[in-house]
Amino acid sequence: MNYTVITREDELSLTLKEKICLTLASNEYIYDELNPETVFVVGGDGTFLKAIHQYIDHLESIQFIGIHTGTLGFMCDHQKEELDDLLEKFKSEQPHVHSYPLLEITLEGKNQTVYAFNEARIENIANTLTLDLSINDEFFETFKGSGICLCTQIGSTAINRSLGGAIIQHGLPLLQLSEIMGLHHWKHRSLGSSLILKEDAVIYVKPESFHHTLLCYDHKSMPVDQCTGITMKNSQKHVKIARFREYSYLSRLKNVF
Ligand code: NAP
Ligand code: MN
Repeated sequence: MNYTVITREDELSLTLKEKICLTLASNEYIYDELNPETVFVVGGDGTFLKAIHQYIDHLESIQFIGIHTGTLGFMCDHQKEELDDLLEKFKSEQPHVHSYPLLEITLEGKNQTVYAFNEARIENIANTLTLDLSINDEFFETFKGSGICLCTQIGSTAINRSLGGAIIQHGLPLLQLSEIMGLHHWKHRSLGSSLILKEDAVIYVKPESFHHTLLCYDHKSMPVDQCTGITMKNSQKHVKIARFREYSYLSRLKNVF
C-alpha cells in the first residue's frame, strides 16, 4: 500500500508525520507522494482542503485519513491522542469510508472547470454585482449585492455558517445557496434567505458584468472578468474519507461550536 502524509508546517504536525512514517516502516507500506492510495492529513480542515486540491486529479484511487493537531474538525476528525490506536487499526482493519461529492464549477467563455469541497463563492467586494440566477434551466431571480455562496454538506459549517446559512447534517448530499450582502429595498428584492437544494440541482449565474469579480473556491480564487456565465453543480468526483471509529456528527458539532 502506497501512502503519503500532508501536514501543516507546525512542530507538532511534523512530529506526528515522523511517527506515522516510523510506524509504517516496512515492506508493506511505501511512502509515495506521486501515487498514494492513502493520504494522511495532519493539521486542520484547512490542511485537508489543500491535500484534496493537491490530488484533485487522482481522487478516484485515494482514501484520506485526517488527524487534527488543533481542536477537532469535520474532515480531520481523529485526534492526535488517537494516533497510535489509529495506526494499529490501519494495519489490521478495514476502515469505514464515506464518499463526499465535490462541487464542479464551469466557467463559460474561459473553457475551464474547477472543483470545490467546501464552497464556491462568486464575489465582488468593490462594486455591486447583478446576477441573473437560474436553477435547473428555470430563471429564479435577479440578485444584487456582494455575491453568492454555494456550499456542500461538509462546507455548511464553514463560510456558509458565517453567512447565516443552516448546517446540513452528515449524510445529506445537499447544496445550499446563500446571499453575500444582498441588496434589498423598495425597488429590488431577492429571496434573502438561504436556499437548500437537491443534490442534482444545477445553478447557472449570468452577470450584468463580472468586472472586478472573483470566483473563490475553498482556499483558492481566480478573477472571472473574462467569463460570460458560471455553472455550478455536484460533480462525479468524490473525496473518500476513511475513519476507524464511530463518527457522531452531533457530538462533533457540539465540540466544535
Ligand atoms: P483556513 O485558515 O484554511 O480556514 C479557516 C478556518 O475555517 C479554519 O479554522 C478551518 O479549520 C475552518 N474550516 C475549513 N473548512 C471547514 C469546514 N468544512 N467546517 C468548519 N470549519 C472549517 O482558511 P483559507 O485558507 O481561507 O481556507 C478556506 C476555507 O476556510 C474556505 O473553504 C472557508 O469556508 C473556510 N473559512 C471559513 C471562514 C468562516 O467561517 N468565516 C473564514 C475563512 C475561511 P481548521 O482550523 O481545522 O483548519
Ligand atoms: Mn457512511
